[in-house]
Amino acid sequence: MPQFPVFDGHNDLLFQFLMNPSQREAIWLKGQGQGHLDLPRMQKGAFVGGFFAIYVPSPHDPAAPDFESLMNSPPYHLPLPDLIDHKAAMHIAMAEAAHLRWMERSSAGQFKVCTSGAEIRATIAKGAIAAVMHMEGAEAIDPALDALYVWHAAGLRSLGPVWSRPTVFGHGVPFKFPGDPDTGPGLTAAGKSLVKACDDLGVLLDLSHLNEKGFDDIARLSSQPLMATHSNAHEVTQSTRNLTDRQLHMIAESRGMVGLNFATVFLRPDGRKSPDMTWDPVMRHLDHLLSILGEECLGFGSDFDGATVPVGIGDVTGVQNLAAAMLEHGFGEDLVRRIASENWLSFLDRVL
Ligand code: ZN
Repeated sequence: MPQFPVFDGHNDLLFQFLMNPSQREAIWLKGQGQGHLDLPRMQKGAFVGGFFAIYVPSPHDPAAPDFESLMNSPPYHLPLPDLIDHKAAMHIAMAEAAHLRWMERSSAGQFKVCTSGAEIRATIAKGAIAAVMHMEGAEAIDPALDALYVWHAAGLRSLGPVWSRPTVFGHGVPFKFPGDPDTGPGLTAAGKSLVKACDDLGVLLDLSHLNEKGFDDIARLSSQPLMATHSNAHEVTQSTRNLTDRQLHMIAESRGMVGLNFATVFLRPDGRKSPDMTWDPVMRHLDHLLSILGEECLGFGSDFDGATVPVGIGDVTGVQNLAAAMLEHGFGEDLVRRIASENWLSFLDRVL
């Protein structure tokens, strides 16, 4: 069977390099890592590009509850981590941006950080992988927004004002199951200024970790189509991280995008983390998302190297197994191609 090109809305490979900087060459170029992504496997799996997230972890707190085991025994309600201050976040974010540029330098033309839809198309046409620099949580941007201009010049084209944690700009949604995303106040005054500045610069705004009021604020204030890079249908899995039907209708009306998150905790109707699951819940999410979004506003947002994914997917090469399951489920080849890459690429043509 022919492979479907894959363009993906979210991964955390840069965070893996932050944790194991001495391993990056072995992981990236030689494919000796244990995770989901590396250059050889991306090429084998027809991965043509995606958003690469710069993510700042919270400092290790020995008194904090064990998120891993809590999330494997729903119901759970994880507390929001403390705000991380700008100075502490800045050098971590810089290190991850540097890893992304190192990936580009070391790949001998096989991987390129792109800043426009046209550059993404041209890069893929040459047979290389196109990366969009994304920041997941705006801790590395100061409230006066000076750093935003420098990050934009460094290649940043997509920004989530929050991860599931507060920032000076807004309030992330805590991980809760079952739970709905209306968990607190919307954007701060600085957050509203951030939205305007991103619109002005051409930096996309990612809604994926925002609570519902923050989502509504961006919908009201931003002129961009609404984008949730890695979230699923709340109707199927009642996680605070998933999108309600009301939110999905708003995204569809704006001709925006939703990336299907492969994280089992957001796919499984029981909210559990275990990777042992069938394709059935994945198809339920896809069917529901398509029923509201239509065929042009849905793509993938794997969360590779940041989440536990179903055994049937396993790693980046297994996205082709998902594509085969979608065909089996009755989706036409055209629709599978759209969801696997073409919808993201058309969206980025329009907005970047
Ligand atoms: Zn995320």
